[in-house]
Amino acid sequence: MEKVITYSMLEAQYGRHIQVEQGVTLPYNDIHFIDGSSMAGINELRTPHGNLSLPAFLPDATRGVVRAVDGVALQELGVPALVMSLFHLLQRPGPGTLKAAGGLHAMFAWQRPIVTDSGGFQAYSLIHQNPSLGSITDQGLVFKGEAGARPLRLTPEKVVEHQVAFGADAVICLDECTHADAPLVEQRTAVQRTIAWAKRGKREFERLMSARKSSGGRPLLLAVIQGGGEYELRRICAEELLAIGFDGYGLGGWPLDSQGELLHDIIAYVRELVPAEYPLHALGIGHPRHILECAELGYTLFDSAMPTRDARHGRLLIWQAEEGIPLARQMQWYSHLYIGDDIHRRDNRPLEAGCRCPCCRSYSRAWLHHLFKIGDGLYDRYATLHNIAFVNRLMERIRHEQPTG
Ligand SMILES: [Zn+2]
Repeated sequence: MEKVITYSMLEAQYGRHIQVEQGVTLPYNDIHFIDGSSMAGINELRTPHGNLSLPAFLPDATRGVVRAVDGVALQELGVPALVMSLFHLLQRPGPGTLKAAGGLHAMFAWQRPIVTDSGGFQAYSLIHQNPSLGSITDQGLVFKGEAGARPLRLTPEKVVEHQVAFGADAVICLDECTHADAPLVEQRTAVQRTIAWAKRGKREFERLMSARKSSGGRPLLLAVIQGGGEYELRRICAEELLAIGFDGYGLGGWPLDSQGELLHDIIAYVRELVPAEYPLHALGIGHPRHILECAELGYTLFDSAMPTRDARHGRLLIWQAEEGIPLARQMQWYSHLYIGDDIHRRDNRPLEAGCRCPCCRSYSRAWLHHLFKIGDGLYDRYATLHNIAFVNRLMERIRHEQPTG
């Protein structure tokens, strides 16, 4: 039986976690998604396709798949959720095909949660590399798709509508990304747009939820905090987005300095701005050292193409951590192994003795080196599985080391 409950009733019960919007109603079974108490200590995130233990790393399945590896293998490996790119999915397979397939979970045979990004970061990268490929205005983004495709328009409303229609478990509002070193005027405009777009995205999300006939769980709605390296702009952006009210937030913008080091102080500041009960997604952060650093600051979700891309390029992650000593206190808890190096040609040991991934369980470094050298697709598969297993192990260790809330 469905009991309709208003936001104001929820607000009375749950306080500031609920954003009041007159006349908006939600099915009763949606309450747990916006019940702040369910995120207490933020050790777990509830989504329509299951709960995520936090902090969690989500591999990037940019075009719906983690390159070279199928969803069954990822689930067996213990991958908790995937991030998919709206920017790419709108081009291929396209919204019509995804709808016909029954959404992302059905199309890609993936039963666990899916987070879809808004496309803002990809559009930003594309347009900044080549301004003739698109433009950003207050209305949204316009960019040229892949060869032969029509120009794509992303408005704050369309971005939310697509993600909801695709069946995403976490929907991210459209944002305007900047580089930390971009001029102040550019950062200011990006923050203003990000706030305005988040407001429009939330309104559209609520409209879609109230019009929804299915009783399936409500997806989470996240907004991204921009502001580059400007503390004041980050504060304004976070406060405005918190006032609009979302289920979680993301750290937006390029997170590294020119030396490739994390912008630690600004990243720490953004976490301070967002109350601890909200999940905070460190978008695009995937270097093991950076994951650990951000997790220690209180970031709870991570996604990056780095571990899987590195694997395909022959850069493999090797776990070296000692038990019983926190990772942050260890000098070298992992290393990189370059499988293309000649030293591995006759090495019959597994990549990593303690690893339980399908590669290390069955095959030697010599086997993997050979496959890498002849460019066999199996190399990509097994190397990718290994690096993902490494990150899974890292996240388990971080969760184990963190005090439970
Ligand atoms: Zn392995």
